[in-house]
Amino acid sequence: TTILGLESSCDDTAAAVLQITDGAASVLSSVVADQAALHAAFGGVVPEIAARAHAEKLDICAREALLQAGTGLHQLNAVAVTAGPGLIGGVMSGVMFAKGLAAGAELPLVGVNHLAGHALTPRLTDGLAFPYLMLLVSGGHCQFLLVEGFDNFTRLGGTIDDAPGEAFDKVARLLALPQPGGPAVEAEAAQGDPARFRFPRPLMDRPGCDMSFSGLKTAVLRARDEVMQGGKLRASDRADLCAGFQAAMTDVLVKKSARALDKVAGEGITALAVAGGVAANTPIRAGLETICTDRGLRFVAPPLALCTDNAAMIAWAGYERFKAGLRDDMTLAARPRWPLDQTSPAMLGSGK
Ligand code: ATP
Ligand code: FE
Repeated sequence: TTILGLESSCDDTAAAVLQITDGAASVLSSVVADQAALHAAFGGVVPEIAARAHAEKLDICAREALLQAGTGLHQLNAVAVTAGPGLIGGVMSGVMFAKGLAAGAELPLVGVNHLAGHALTPRLTDGLAFPYLMLLVSGGHCQFLLVEGFDNFTRLGGTIDDAPGEAFDKVARLLALPQPGGPAVEAEAAQGDPARFRFPRPLMDRPGCDMSFSGLKTAVLRARDEVMQGGKLRASDRADLCAGFQAAMTDVLVKKSARALDKVAGEGITALAVAGGVAANTPIRAGLETICTDRGLRFVAPPLALCTDNAAMIAWAGYERFKAGLRDDMTLAARPRWPLDQTSPAMLGSGK
């Protein structure tokens, strides 16, 4: 089976060709055109600019993915596309392009939930069997999911305010470090003393798996203002602030993950899997690995290129649906909001 995946729900336009032979998947191509340069001047993703850029780049990315894979349209078995959640202009661009392509090439169309794409990636990369626990930690999301089937997700908890990647990015901005903030803060933290600043660990002593990160960012701001002299921040102070922030972040994510694992202990899970850009963070990864080892579970962290937004994960999630006989038609709707535990578009029948 050969599937073309398309992704345009945020600020990356992506296309990928995935081939599945006897259950073994190989990513023949995975093209990602990021829009960072377009949004840089605005300090965040501008929806209208993103939508236009997707509309301009989708065909180019799709052609590039097919070229790199050495695959013609007639060799495809289906087109899979992100149908939500995300910035609606971008999602609409993708869905309309996919409909046109599917109609023109007479191919089946499969609508995919972007979060399902992330959550199913460990099955693509590591052949992980259901059920497993998924921690999704990115620039826009943070949640624990019990994954029991390709269309069976239970949310156990998540952030009630900022996503961890967003917190890393905001802290980087406070400390005049470059964007994206995660890698910059991690590099600084490696030079600093994590014990000097003791930042809050919100909701830690509350039961459940919910987390909160916005207070942490405010605490970093306050500590920064206290140590700044004449508007200047010493290099060692900056490193210590980063180390303290990262320690708090790691502590919360690891302890809440342990709690989530204990909560689903009776469900027969064999692994904790992660996805999202923050899963690239070495101390966070190490902490998660330890709690897995302690419980005799596998820790699965897909390669970074498949952890952040990409279309190979959309092609894979599309393949799982396609294999189960699910198809969408021209009524497939683009959905700005689409919680994972709600019925999929194909199952709604018409996406209404
Ligand atoms: P989403 O996929 O939820 O819409 P996104 O596209 O912003 O959001 P990703 O591309 O998965 O998310 O991840 C980007 C985020 O990951 C950024 O916020 C970035 O700072 C963070 N990040 C990347 N590397 C690291 C790192 N080493 N440590 C911590 N955070 C990191
Ligand atoms: Fe994403």
